[in-house]
Amino acid sequence: MNNPLLDFTDLPLFDQIKPEHVAPAMDSLLAQSEAALARVSGADFPPRWTEISAVLDVATERLGRAWSAVSHLNNVADTPELRAAFNAALPRITDFWTRLGADERLYAKYKAIDPSTLNPEQQQALRLALRSFVLGGAELSGPDKERFASIQERQAELSQKFSENVLDATDHFAYYANASEIEGLPQDVIQAARAAAQQDGREGYKLTLKMPCYLPVMQFARSGELRQRLYRAYVTRASEQAGEEAVQFDNSAVIRELLALRQEEARLLGYRNFGEVSVVPKMAQSPQQVLTFLRDLAVRARPHAERDVAELRAFASERLQLHDPQPWDWPYLSERLKEERYAFSEQEVKAYFTAPRVLAGLFRIVETLFEVRIQPDTAPTWHPGVSFYRIERSLPGGAAQLLGQFYLDQPARQGKRGGAWMDDVRSRWLRPDSGTLQTPVAHLVCNFAEGVDGQPALLTHDDVITLFHEFGHGLHHLLTQVNERDVAGISGVEWDAVELPSQFMENFCWEWNVLCDMTAHVQTGQAMPRALFDKMLAARNFQSGMQTLRQIEFALFDMLLHTDHEPEQDFLPLLDLVRAEVAVLQPPAWSRSAHSFSHIFAGGYAAGYYSYKWAEVLSADAYAAFEETLSAQGLPSPQTGRKYRQAILEAGGSRPAIESFKAFRGREPSLDALLRHQGMAPIELADPHNREAPNVHRSNWAPAGKLPAADSAGPA
Ligand SMILES: [Zn+2]
Repeated sequence: MNNPLLDFTDLPLFDQIKPEHVAPAMDSLLAQSEAALARVSGADFPPRWTEISAVLDVATERLGRAWSAVSHLNNVADTPELRAAFNAALPRITDFWTRLGADERLYAKYKAIDPSTLNPEQQQALRLALRSFVLGGAELSGPDKERFASIQERQAELSQKFSENVLDATDHFAYYANASEIEGLPQDVIQAARAAAQQDGREGYKLTLKMPCYLPVMQFARSGELRQRLYRAYVTRASEQAGEEAVQFDNSAVIRELLALRQEEARLLGYRNFGEVSVVPKMAQSPQQVLTFLRDLAVRARPHAERDVAELRAFASERLQLHDPQPWDWPYLSERLKEERYAFSEQEVKAYFTAPRVLAGLFRIVETLFEVRIQPDTAPTWHPGVSFYRIERSLPGGAAQLLGQFYLDQPARQGKRGGAWMDDVRSRWLRPDSGTLQTPVAHLVCNFAEGVDGQPALLTHDDVITLFHEFGHGLHHLLTQVNERDVAGISGVEWDAVELPSQFMENFCWEWNVLCDMTAHVQTGQAMPRALFDKMLAARNFQSGMQTLRQIEFALFDMLLHTDHEPEQDFLPLLDLVRAEVAVLQPPAWSRSAHSFSHIFAGGYAAGYYSYKWAEVLSADAYAAFEETLSAQGLPSPQTGRKYRQAILEAGGSRPAIESFKAFRGREPSLDALLRHQGMAPIELADPHNREAPNVHRSNWAPAGKLPAADSAGPA
């Protein structure tokens, strides 16, 4: 058999995989996986972890690895032929995983395993497997089971409908502006708008609600009337407030039905509301804990947000003679104020970050803090621009132990999906079939601009942060010391904690003594001047108070909507209450931002939007341990690095994230570090008038006691 997708000797043969290999490989691997599933769920198969794993996991791991290679190529080296082969196989692959996750006989087999025969890692893997079966409805029977399945199906349809409505409502709007209306817009936006109008055979400039057009209009268009026109269209998208001809995209009914189905699903599973279901596989213990967390953060951020608004108002009044700014003025005002205060150009910053120097700096900090060596290595790849590395640990006596390997695909190019991500090629696993230890392998993918005129690629500071972020995910996957595949590295980590190691690494990009060492001007070779860095740092925290409250507003609305709201009732009053509690800038009464809140109605973040802030708090607090132990030269301490590596990175998903966090920090997480990093240290109340600031309408809320307590959450 000459199919490179079926060669599992070592690394994927990326240079040999062709579209025509996909279908036969998937046929064969799916058949093997089906056979394995049938075998282990048979009545005579022993309910023993290692035996099940040696048959089922070995087969499905091959399927997963081969499919991961195909979808990776589809992402980074797309061709029409490969895409066709990928799309043809996709439904069969998805169908198999779905059936596996809901297989009753397999669930019964897992339930029959005696946990006392397992090591702690296996026990955790078994707990997670059983939990996901239960949340998938495996405990239900008869009409309940059927109803559960049809709820899932209907929810998928509604989510799809929700996204389509948002997309169609966004596409539906177009405004052809004249030359005087678009004054102030950046040149590239003007050119694109002109070209779009020409394509429609129209005069003027076509403005739309798509981000690359909408955002610059709100930030730069001098015409308040134009901004108001686009703002109104944007915040009423997919709602009953949109113009008559757009009312077909109204999401009101979709939202109501989704909320009702989620409530019903939660009750079938034995919970009171969907919020309780959502937090089961997460680090947060209960919806109440999330609400308290968000409200604490809101109270602490509020004085800063109020100061942000006061500054904006003063600026508008003094500099632009705008005495009563409206919602469509705020982004414009912010941009003007930001320009005035922190003028520095992205070009200026870029000249200091050459890709090789940044990479060397990243490797150096990782090697020092985590006691590893990163060495260039070779492997079959999909493009000559891809590099491959091994991470090793030095053993006493000079020998090196291989911990893991990774591909680094940096440059943007034709046929490569945008964005940046970490993906696994294979996981660390003490294989139940051969008894050998499989080392982990990762993909790190970015999309950096190529260097021009023979110069090295130049990175923006955002690019540098992205590289560190993805490398953080990579280290979580690669430095794990867990031998059980499903809880090794990132696998099994609660998803409100999974961004801890990635956001943690971002902090180094704001540490002068670390960053300075990674800079060298592309022409002069000189390090970045401190003054430029200080401007970047100040701009980083511009309006952080306002931005924090905006995120909390979304997160609080999301969690309350799924815990403390009857689905058949109108949800708009709830949104008003949330805004009255946390927002410093009130949107107009006709604003309908919930109708396009795709994260929670179409994106898997229902009762989970808080996760963004949650993980930010964890990573900032973890990083603070390094700030507390900086050396005399201002460099992070290797002792703290070792502790972090062992407690967080090596432990992976083998225990709850809170235990790993406490093992590292010796205490519960705290909000302090995040607030400090974002320039929100407690405001001194020297001026007693500042005391008036907090405007929290707490009495509007249902008493906390109405919500379930942490210890009572769980299937009835
Ligand atoms: Zn991430």
